[in-house]
Amino acid sequence: MTTHPFGPSGRQVPMLGQGTWNMERDDRAAAVAALRAGIDAGMTHIDTAEMYGSGRVEELVAEAIAGRRDEVFLVSKVLPNNASFKGVLRACEASLKRLGTDRLDVYLLHWRSRHPLEGTLEAFEKLVNDGKIGAWGVSNFDVDDLEEALAVAGPGRIACNQVLYHLGERAIEHAVLPWCREHEVAVVAYSPFGSGRFPAPGTSGGRVLVQIAAMHDAAPHQVALRFLVREAGMFAIPKASRPDHAVENAGAATLELTPAELERIGRAFPRGRLPRELPVI
Ligand code: NAP
Repeated sequence: MTTHPFGPSGRQVPMLGQGTWNMERDDRAAAVAALRAGIDAGMTHIDTAEMYGSGRVEELVAEAIAGRRDEVFLVSKVLPNNASFKGVLRACEASLKRLGTDRLDVYLLHWRSRHPLEGTLEAFEKLVNDGKIGAWGVSNFDVDDLEEALAVAGPGRIACNQVLYHLGERAIEHAVLPWCREHEVAVVAYSPFGSGRFPAPGTSGGRVLVQIAAMHDAAPHQVALRFLVREAGMFAIPKASRPDHAVENAGAATLELTPAELERIGRAFPRGRLPRELPVI
């Protein structure tokens, strides 16, 4: 699996990882097997959150990574309601317990909170100093939020911004992506398949994916994923609760799309205008 430096720490992380949202609703054994198959295939970046299944998904992730914690780049998120200084410290302890580990690789603020950013980031820095997290990042942050976080934390502290990015929603390309590139903040694409609303093969865009996939003996989902992580510094975390889906997604890393194919996909799924607000799911 191709790796790229993840944010200012430069830590090498696979460009494709695994999401876990709503996994508490899936067949548990299949979901655990899918995560394990994904890890075996190199998708060691695992994304979860205290919100998912109200903690049940973190417990499921614990089962999937049991005995192989050191292979995994583990990311979880604090809910905005818990993002006061003390709330972050408490939430992190609870996540660590549910995940059966003593440390997270990255801890994220799930989205902007009513709690002042100063307290949240101070707690994140304490967790780094205490060895409970390797780094911290944000999610669903627009450029003004990122500027504020940078002003509070100083340069070189924000590991990543996890944002909505799929073929039907390319708004981050206007401002968030260039900002992150300039400040060495990793961009992690969530819901890379539109959260299950993938372009149908009968649509004009879907046909383009099918045709390009056929040229490479690949699947349309692989073509879509490869487009999203076409540049270093971009990562994606597709969710799969079926082991065959996980293995297929990992296979996207070895797909080499030509510049002409990338351009054709870009034309089939246009970026659109800069929206007033950053789209979120
Ligand atoms: P997604 O990854 O866009 O799509 C998941 C859907 O695609 C599932 O129905 C899955 O089916 C299907 N799928 C996966 N691989 C496939 C393949 N190779 N072929 C056909 N279908 C395939 O959805 P998502 O869960 O919304 O997003 C991914 C992750 O991003 C989440 O799980 C979560 O970790 C993160 N996220 C973060 C935020 C945030 O606010 N920070 C918000 C949303 C999501 P099966 O399950 O049947 O395999």
